[in-house]
Amino acid sequence: MCKLTRRKFLGLGGTVLAATSVAGVAPFAIGGARKTVVVVGGGIGGATAAKYLRMMDPSIDVTLIEANTNYYTCFMSNEVLAGERSMESIRFGYSGLKGHGIHVVQDRATSIDPDKRVVRTQGGQRFAYDRCIVSPGVDFRWDSIEGYDARVAERIPHAWKAGPQTLILRNQLRAMRDGGTVLIAPPANPYRCPPAPYDRVSQIAHYLKRHKPRSKIIILDPKDRFSKFDLFLDGWKRYYGYGTDDSMITWVSGAAGGTIESLDVKAMTIQADIESFKGDVINIIPPQKAGWIAFSAGLTNEQGWCPVDFRTFESTIQRKIHVIGDSSQASPMPKGGYVANTTAKVCAAAIVADFNGGKAPRPSWINSCYSTLAPGDAISAVTIYTYRDGRIVKVEGSGGLTPQEFDAGMRAREAQYAHSWFNNITADVFD
Ligand SMILES: Cc1cc2nc3c(=O)[nH]c(=O)nc-3n(C[C@H](O)[C@H](O)[C@H](O)COP(=O)(O)OP(=O)(O)OC[C@H]3O[C@@H](n4cnc5c(N)ncnc54)[C@H](O)[C@@H]3O)c2cc1C
Repeated sequence: MCKLTRRKFLGLGGTVLAATSVAGVAPFAIGGARKTVVVVGGGIGGATAAKYLRMMDPSIDVTLIEANTNYYTCFMSNEVLAGERSMESIRFGYSGLKGHGIHVVQDRATSIDPDKRVVRTQGGQRFAYDRCIVSPGVDFRWDSIEGYDARVAERIPHAWKAGPQTLILRNQLRAMRDGGTVLIAPPANPYRCPPAPYDRVSQIAHYLKRHKPRSKIIILDPKDRFSKFDLFLDGWKRYYGYGTDDSMITWVSGAAGGTIESLDVKAMTIQADIESFKGDVINIIPPQKAGWIAFSAGLTNEQGWCPVDFRTFESTIQRKIHVIGDSSQASPMPKGGYVANTTAKVCAAAIVADFNGGKAPRPSWINSCYSTLAPGDAISAVTIYTYRDGRIVKVEGSGGLTPQEFDAGMRAREAQYAHSWFNNITADVFD
């Protein structure tokens, strides 16, 4: 367990201060009633916020309400699909957070009353709060693809929330005959982790090349470009014959008729804009929206996401409730785990400042995102953002993208960095 002293907190140059500037803030409670924060959702955003609240101010009473006993990270779940890592390696429990003095409640939050400031759960529990932090991740717009819903997803997995869904897709890939076709249908923007569908294509292609080399992947995409586009295409050319008659991967863009309309589970076909495609394994990643509880608490706008004040991540619709992670609308930052992690720290620092009569620090955020083309060949994009005039803006000249020219040594290092990023962020969130 890691408890920060006031001196250590103010002296931190690394993780916390990378995300939040705390100048002028006395972060520890100076007497007064004990403050209570209830966090809904123990994924990347919620778990980080709960831990950092306690680290920044151990006098705060923090309750974390999480529906599941264990959390499976979406990051690296594509490696599970490729048979490159185990499910156990992406599973995290909550004992580390309990060690920080957080009350971890395994239950589903069913309502948040912004007037009475109370969260209620399926198990009949009731938690009063001074501040509530909501980080429920994403839910799916089931009505957008005819024939696809939560029940059908048990057979045609989305695997866009890791756990049982990851296993369904992995087992289907294992059971598929050599020479079979995998259909992958990513959504239009915005959605959770923009490069991840294409990382998934690469990982599955790698698996098929090794185990079922006569198989094909067809991507049915409503978009005409995607994150790290040129780097992915270059990797697919090098490893999977992309662009040749014998390519393992075919990408059907929006302009070429890639937008999907309906699914026929019995026939295992997807009807897209222009033609119909038959698959042996089908992975539909449906369009997304904020997690259900955000809707029921009245935190969402017409686009289905939660508008927030970027300095504090407090909802601009309901006071004293903060929304972080994928459910929040924090454009131009993408919906991603690293963003959820850094927004959680910004939010925690703002709440601690407020409880102690201070002003929310001026925030900045980091996003770095790795994708794999084949084992030992990874690419990355890094961006630093800052707060200016009520908006989130990219810091000019910051960050960068892996160079287009292939350099085997650099790509191997990127692959190592990707795995150490995973180890670091999961320790930062759950230990
Ligand atoms: C295949 C894939 C690969 C990815 N790779 C990367 C990557 O390499 N890097 C990166 O930065 N990001 C990556 N991401 C994105 C990242 O996983 C998400 O952006 C991140 O998990 C968002 O955090 P969150 O807290 O908003 O939601 P989540 O981490 O999904 O957490 C939400 C939690 O809330 C709980 N919950 C929901 N509703 C309730 C309720 N009513 N009551 C109680 N609990 C509730 C859920 O059980 C869940 O545990 C990837 C995503 C996918 C799908």
